[in-house]
Amino acid sequence: AKADGRGRLCFFEPEMDARMQARRRLEMDLRRALVAREFELFFQPIVEVRSRRVTGLEALLRWNHPQQGLVPPDHFIPLAEEIGLIIPLGEWVLEQACAHAARWPGDTTIAVNLSPAQFASRGLVDAVARALAAAGLDPGRLELEITETVMLQDTDATLTTLHRLKALGVRIAMDDFGTGYSSLSYLQRFPFDKVKIDRCFTRDLGQTQQSDAIIRAVAGLCQGLDMRTTAEGVETEEQFRALARKGCAEAQGYLFSRPCPAGEIPEMLARLSLA
Ligand code: C2E
Ligand code: CA
Ligand code: CA
Ligand code: CA
Repeated sequence: AKADGRGRLCFFEPEMDARMQARRRLEMDLRRALVAREFELFFQPIVEVRSRRVTGLEALLRWNHPQQGLVPPDHFIPLAEEIGLIIPLGEWVLEQACAHAARWPGDTTIAVNLSPAQFASRGLVDAVARALAAAGLDPGRLELEITETVMLQDTDATLTTLHRLKALGVRIAMDDFGTGYSSLSYLQRFPFDKVKIDRCFTRDLGQTQQSDAIIRAVAGLCQGLDMRTTAEGVETEEQFRALARKGCAEAQGYLFSRPCPAGEIPEMLARLSLA
């Protein structure tokens, strides 16, 4: 490190510099991608354990990068959050998700992930209302998934937003349950309709007593609180069979389907209804 003209210390670390440059490139690329309409929603079914019937689909964002191909959300959502791009991107996701869902059969629900910055933004409730109205979608068919990070923020403001969303008639799910610091206290304080149990608890289902006990306990707890439970990341029949005995209402995972483009949904639903 050496001092620059104004007496500040500058660190000439080539590694850091390279990282900053990569970040700036990604930032510019992301802004361009939104304009160039390179984003696409994939959909993964959520299945009722008792009947194996598909009750809804979760929208999962992908970036169709001209050079890099399909880029998963973990690679760009954190930066989109940081630079505020998640607000227009998130609104696009809401609009698209509602528009797709309006074309699906019956009462199939659509689950949409909300990021913390999006949740904290002033325009969120209006954006949700606009997306529903534009698609003509029954609000009861839209489920918004939020993680614990959302609830770490100012509690009163979070509660107010949750109640305003619920007043629209949409449902709220707590995502990635069990991975944070105080999941239980959030269940007590916030009006969730559903709790999604994180994949790390599903992995050893049917194999270890611990994970069976945890799923059973969480499902029982949520039942008592009048919240439905969904187990995420169900990949095997063995895990699914173990679930069925634990009082968990729904399952989601590769066992039923990987997330797929909208055009493949009819085929996917047909395959699952025959299975
Ligand atoms: P998530 O909301 O917890 O979504 C579940 C992730 O697990 C998805 O990864 C899904 O493809 C993956 N998954 C589903 N079933 C299985 C399985 O059986 N095994 C395994 N190993 N994985 C499974 P994906 O699509 O890469 O999304 C990652 C995360 O990115 C999501 O986690 C969510 O937090 C975020 N995300 C995705 N779409 C959006 C979006 O539209 N907006 C925001 N804010 N975040 C999004
Ligand atoms: Ca989710
Ligand atoms: Ca999750
Ligand atoms: Ca997650």
